Amino acid sequence: STFADDDYDYMYKVVLIGDSGVGKSNLLSRFSKNEFSLESKSTIGVEFATRSINVDDMIIKGQMWDTNGQERYRAIPSSYYRGAVGAIIVYDITRNVTYENVERWLKEFRAYTDPGIVVMLVGNKADLGYLRAITTNDAKAFAERENILFMEASAQDALNVTHAFTELLTQIHIKAQ
Ligand code: GDP
Ligand code: MG
Repeated sequence: STFADDDYDYMYKVVLIGDSGVGKSNLLSRFSKNEFSLESKSTIGVEFATRSINVDDMIIKGQMWDTNGQERYRAIPSSYYRGAVGAIIVYDITRNVTYENVERWLKEFRAYTDPGIVVMLVGNKADLGYLRAITTNDAKAFAERENILFMEASAQDALNVTHAFTELLTQIHIKAQ
């Protein structure tokens, strides 16, 4: 459920990273507004979007930061990562290069943040199963090796989107206690 904007017990900053075009902005708009767009909205930069969830009778507000298309030039400023306690690294299950770049995103992210941060790998566009290039098992094994969470999702079909953000925020909250 959602709550009034200023009514929360804890707020956690989460950053979305991953290659351009993988669906970061749409995952966020699906989670925060239940909206999806066929167009890439990288030029309409929102700094962040919020949504609150309920965890153990506490209202947990996620402040989720989206890039403004800077990832296209690998020019994400360090301020983007500052204060983040969670990250969602997104790849596109139909585009191998976006999966190969996950390791680079993980490395960059870890260089800017504390080791205790909760990370989730999200394989987006699961609705395009017939174009799949990355198997679920490969991604799952990679996530286990890196000790990060993993889920496949579809911003278009609203598959696992709320689940992914909720699971990440819940794990962040558990870790913070
Ligand atoms: P970003 O650059 O990572 O923020 O990606 P966008 O959210 O702008 O999405 C890039 C393109 O992928 C847009 O055309 C979206 O409509 C499309 N897209 C995003 N999520 C999905 C999805 O789950 N399934 C499909 N089929 N297309 C998606
Ligand atoms: Mg975007």
